[in-house]
Amino acid sequence: MTTPPTPSTFNIPLSKKVQSLKPSSTVAVSSRALELQRAGVDIISMAVGEPDFDTPPHVIAAAKTAMDAGKTRYTSVNGIPELREAIAAKLQRENGLTYAPEAVTVTSGGKQALFNALFALLDPGDEVLIPSPYWVSYPEMVSFAGGVPVAVPTTPESGYQLDVNAVRAALTPRSKLLMLNSPGNPTGAVFPEDTLRALAELAREKDLFIITDEMYEHIVYDAAQTSIARFAPERTLTVNGASKAYAMTGWRIGYAAGPLPLIRAMNAIQGQSTSNANSIAQWAAVSAITDSYAFIERSRAEFRKRRDRIVAGLNELGLPTPTPQGAFYVLTDTTRIHADELEAARLMLDEARVAVVPGTDFAAPGRVRLSYATSMVKIEEVLTRLKGLLDSR
Ligand code: PLP
Repeated sequence: MTTPPTPSTFNIPLSKKVQSLKPSSTVAVSSRALELQRAGVDIISMAVGEPDFDTPPHVIAAAKTAMDAGKTRYTSVNGIPELREAIAAKLQRENGLTYAPEAVTVTSGGKQALFNALFALLDPGDEVLIPSPYWVSYPEMVSFAGGVPVAVPTTPESGYQLDVNAVRAALTPRSKLLMLNSPGNPTGAVFPEDTLRALAELAREKDLFIITDEMYEHIVYDAAQTSIARFAPERTLTVNGASKAYAMTGWRIGYAAGPLPLIRAMNAIQGQSTSNANSIAQWAAVSAITDSYAFIERSRAEFRKRRDRIVAGLNELGLPTPTPQGAFYVLTDTTRIHADELEAARLMLDEARVAVVPGTDFAAPGRVRLSYATSMVKIEEVLTRLKGLLDSR
């Protein structure tokens, strides 16, 4: 069979907007790791942010039932009423938030909820305050939507806690939005109620809107997760999804709840782009959101064991690693391996055969992110390989 020629020489007139978009470094590292794996190299990936558990069987069963029942057509743009009702009930039960089902919108992953929200809220030049280190996609999404990301630094010494005075110091007349992520990726920081109350007050005083990404809410160890929407519901959009809580990354179900005019604007954007989230996955998510307590408890207990082991192991190796309170990542100081985190990540991949994400795009210089959403056996092997790398230097 002949392969058609690739028309690579044609000059595609890509937009300035898309040319300024940086590909996610998380994806870049996992692609390189995959490439090496395909070439037969035994790589352990600590790079990817998804639980290694299977989607719970009752969720799979709900999807099969939905398919057999012909739930295979377009749904309403904002999601099937059954799912929006289940989400509204969950927000009440677990987060103490009161929303009507019409104040909820279902999206193709939390990413799309964030995307829709930023496009609905930002005008060119609007500034968005983002605590750093941050998830790589936030500044990229903000810039893509025409806004200007403004980092508000936090430090490893404080466990990456956000100081309200640092937020105040970063404010300008163009500040419009505050983006929070607690428990945080990559820091694992969980913001306490006092901080959230103070931030809500500051937002009211300075007329800021808040987007809070609560994707890791169930993965908390020594801290209680609180939703800031409890303190400023009129100016908060709560974003969440099925990916991390119910091991459903591939199903692509996210959601958001907030003030109606914003939800309607997000629906308008979605109506002209993806139309609706996958119908079968929406039915599966009804089951996940209403009935997964045992699964959540089991995964939290497993993640806690892994966190304790990896934090202790990395610190013993002389790679300083603060103990995260939530999510499933550690941010490790790799300056002992190399002062430059990109070079440290390269050495870890090429010499220790461990894939990690350099802190560069997270605004975490001198550090790399390891995801411990992987088995205990692999964590032990990673520690052994890293010991080998350090001993050889
Ligand atoms: N928010 C944070 C902080 C994340 O880490 C991720 C995924 O890594 C997402 C949102 C996106 O999740 P989803 O799979 O729902 O798009």
